Amino acid sequence: MRKKLPIMLPKLSRLRGWRHLQTRILMIWTLVAVLFFGVAGAVDPLEDLSRTIRNKIRDHEASGQVVVVGIDTLAMQDRGNWPWTYGDYAELVRKLDKAGARRIVFDIKTSNNATAEDRQLLADALKQADDKVYLTANFVADSSTGRTVTQIPPAEFRQHARLVNSNFWINGYNAVQTTPYALKVGDLALPSIAAELSGETGKVGEDFPIDYSVNLYSIPYISAADVLRQSRELDRVKGKDVIIGLNEPSIGQRHSILGHGLAASTFIVAVGTETLIEGRPIQLGWLPPLLFAFLLCAIIVYAPRRAYRVAAFALGMLLLLAGPIALETMRIFMNYMPAIFMLGCLACHYAWSRHRQSFQDKGMFNEISGLPNLNALRQEAQDCREGLIAARIHNYAEVATALPAAREKDLADQISMRLSLGNGARKIYHGDEGIFMWLVPEETIATVGDQLSALHAIFRSPANIDGRNIDLSITFGVDADPGRSMQSRMSSALLAMHEAANAGEKWRVYDPSRLEATEWKVSLLGELDAAIDSGEVWVAFQPKLDLIKDEVCGAEALVRWTHPEKGAINPEEFILAAEKHDRIEKLTEHVLNTAVEAAARINRESGPFDIAVNLSPRLVGTDGLRPMVASALKRFGLPPERLILEITETAAMSSATEAMDELHALRAMGLQLSIDDYGTGFSTLDYLKRCPSSEIKIDRSFIRVLGTSRSDRIMVNSTIELAHSLGEVVVAEGIEDSETLQLLKQMGCDKAQGFLIGRPMPIEALHDFLARFESSSAAA
Ligand code: C2E
Ligand code: CA
Ligand code: CA
Repeated sequence: MRKKLPIMLPKLSRLRGWRHLQTRILMIWTLVAVLFFGVAGAVDPLEDLSRTIRNKIRDHEASGQVVVVGIDTLAMQDRGNWPWTYGDYAELVRKLDKAGARRIVFDIKTSNNATAEDRQLLADALKQADDKVYLTANFVADSSTGRTVTQIPPAEFRQHARLVNSNFWINGYNAVQTTPYALKVGDLALPSIAAELSGETGKVGEDFPIDYSVNLYSIPYISAADVLRQSRELDRVKGKDVIIGLNEPSIGQRHSILGHGLAASTFIVAVGTETLIEGRPIQLGWLPPLLFAFLLCAIIVYAPRRAYRVAAFALGMLLLLAGPIALETMRIFMNYMPAIFMLGCLACHYAWSRHRQSFQDKGMFNEISGLPNLNALRQEAQDCREGLIAARIHNYAEVATALPAAREKDLADQISMRLSLGNGARKIYHGDEGIFMWLVPEETIATVGDQLSALHAIFRSPANIDGRNIDLSITFGVDADPGRSMQSRMSSALLAMHEAANAGEKWRVYDPSRLEATEWKVSLLGELDAAIDSGEVWVAFQPKLDLIKDEVCGAEALVRWTHPEKGAINPEEFILAAEKHDRIEKLTEHVLNTAVEAAARINRESGPFDIAVNLSPRLVGTDGLRPMVASALKRFGLPPERLILEITETAAMSSATEAMDELHALRAMGLQLSIDDYGTGFSTLDYLKRCPSSEIKIDRSFIRVLGTSRSDRIMVNSTIELAHSLGEVVVAEGIEDSETLQLLKQMGCDKAQGFLIGRPMPIEALHDFLARFESSSAAA
């Protein structure tokens, strides 16, 4: 199988080329989609989520330089409900100034409807605080009309206070992610509170991201009530910048901080200020990470191995997920989701193609046994020069149907175990139903017959599933003709296997020269009819010996064709051809008539004499059979019990009830039936019980090795016992030596046939033989 590599490689690379192209197209599309998403902000929620997680990881304390003074529930209890008067603001300024606050920022809008007295109080306080105080000027955009209204503190306050802007951008989730460095309010370009307090200035309209990893609770907070009461809390403002804001749910704006909940907007201003105090953030957007992801995707696509791809992907993901933590600590902020999305798409693409591949792989295995199937064989063994063996368990379907679903695997396992036991542990492929295939090395093809015979013997003992013994009948077909497509070789091996099964053989090799032979046979077949009429086709008789009475008890009629040019033609060959081309009936009729005539004469002249005629299984069940037999018996006056019909059993016959009915009908005519070639075919115990046979003929392949093979001895012995228990007569055929004959006698075999007793001979020779035998036994 190692040979297949150079052939497979170009195909693989072509496949990879195609996959590359697919992947590249996917990458382009993903990039387009991601660019679109990036611009449209469709992945923002995910971006926020990932940032929230990073913020939790980077969570750290505020600098403490900024103190928030909140007008909160407590302050409102002390000083009355909002809005407060300018007099109250003036008092806040004075007390904070006195406590040593560095700068004081009002993150509260000032209004114009106040008494002159109050306004004077605040103006005085601002003047006294000496430029320490900042007031906010901002604009309000009316989201319904689109108009903006600016809110700028009155001129009298601006004399002693500087202006800052407190606008920021609220996104769709009521969160504030970025804040401007400076904005224009009317004609005034004003720095934001954060920019002013931190000293990090920027252009008008330039934004910076708020770093929410600053722990909100670590920002010093004092209630305005404590300031007004001048409690000890007030000491905390010394030397610090103070932002005064509203911190009561019913009065001030509140925004959501991801991963935290709602917070008063003043705190967001404070966190923004802390952000800038920690250092100027660099905002690079989502394009640089996307570019990085794109490069990484390219690396992944061109990686020569899956391991590299996985490593590149893992590294990339790690960098995109963990890298930002380090970068954000270094004040570099980017949006990573488009990049992660792109990498994710590619990973999904690979995962999906792998999944699809594994799905395709599934098409390479037999679902029941888990063994590679014939598809796998077709792919793996292209152009291999090894021999191909096909095996079929003929009763697989029957057995499997009778088993519970979960046990079918056991059956397949037992079969494949036996096969690998006998095939030198070669890889076994399992096709549908009971078909199994494997390859054998080129150099062992010559001896494959021995291997298959051994395998056949292994299958003689029944399989055991759930304590039930199950007989399995197996036949093999061999294709030893490489250089053709695997598909064609598989068909040939199966064909050879089927032919072997039909002929009752254990195995057969597919013979490519047979095509010619078949043509030869077809032309010969045209001569068969004429040959029967002219006497070229004749019948030989092989005597049968009764081992108990020690006398010739009958003969088997064997057809012969002596061709004037070709000489003796192998009966098996022309019988097979005749069967295939529907000429078997005439041939059988000829043999039957000749044999019955000869036997009738012997019966009349010298007592009981059985005649055995071979019956092609194809004829069993045909309309003409019974009339043909009946007319032969009647015509020559042979008692029906003197005629034995020998039938080799086939898979088709063992399962067809019509065939069984026909055998019963023949039996009912009074004649005898013999199961020919017993042991090679499909004979199961069940068949043996159902078949109305009176005799079993043990195949000569078992008899031949009786003297040498212990297992065959056991098999023959047990067959004899079994047959006797079923009331059947046992005939052993193919006996060539006296030792074997002796052995069979000891085993209790009833009858014997073989070259030792007598070769198949013309009828005249049989008469002589009988006469000689009679006189010799009389002499004895
Ligand atoms: P079979 O029915 O098994 O017939 C016995 C075969 O064994 C015969 O081969 C016979 O010559 C051979 N044989 C007998 N004794 C010995 C022995 O001691 N050693 C060896 N090596 N062989 C022995 P044959 O005559 O070549 O016939 C081959 C097959 O052709 C038969 O096998 C039978 O299946 C078939 N056949 C013969 N005549 C007919 C017929 O008239 N009709 C049908 N349908 N088939 C026939
Ligand atoms: Ca026979
Ligand atoms: Ca036989």
